[in-house]
Amino acid sequence: MKLLTPLLDLFFPPRCIFCRGPLDCEQQGVEICQSCYDGLLDPRQCCSRCSHPLLKQERFCPVCHGRFFAFKGACALNVYRGNLKQVVHRYKYKDKRHLAHTLGRLAAGQIKRCNWPNFKAVVPVPLHPLRLAERGYDQAFLLAEVIAADLQLPVQRHLIRTRATISQTKLDSMSRWDNVRDAFAPSSCVALSGNILLVDDLLTTGATAHNAAETLLFAGADSVYLAVVGR
Ligand SMILES: [Zn+2]
Ligand SMILES: [Zn+2]
Repeated sequence: MKLLTPLLDLFFPPRCIFCRGPLDCEQQGVEICQSCYDGLLDPRQCCSRCSHPLLKQERFCPVCHGRFFAFKGACALNVYRGNLKQVVHRYKYKDKRHLAHTLGRLAAGQIKRCNWPNFKAVVPVPLHPLRLAERGYDQAFLLAEVIAADLQLPVQRHLIRTRATISQTKLDSMSRWDNVRDAFAPSSCVALSGNILLVDDLLTTGATAHNAAETLLFAGADSVYLAVVGR
């Protein structure tokens, strides 16, 4: 396959995973064009708690002001719509697991742009074993692996799902909080320490990440920050 790759690239040159345009980006090793790269969220212009892009005149984030999240900060590649939504859909439901490489590398880039502390480990939000059996791969785990390799951190599966939850996308905002309450448990009784980078594919209401982060804090983590692809 290694010998074949240059040939395949010659006839089917890799394209931007978002817009399918030619790869003209200076970012090495990621399949994104310059225009899509320039369109990624700038974490400095987003809410530091929930990564919602803020308008210049906004003093409070309209999404999370007055809410409590167990994670201290969040960053995302972009808003969950348009090309990014399609990419996430292909990644999660169309068996395009190779997309984890570009998505994870870009997420690592976003994390480096945040003023976050040093992390002890990268922890993926786990998939329930039933879902894993259906899909064949754990999308948050694959992302966590790429991010961790880029940041030179270990991936640690500190969390398990205690029950299979209904897909959050099928529920309204309030039901999402009920759906994931107590959905996680620590995977071992060994106490955690240090700052933990939690990784998931999406952040919507924050309910899933909040519950996962709360479990990590109860297990001894000093703080939890969240990196996602879409929000
Ligand atoms: Zn593009
Ligand atoms: Zn916010």
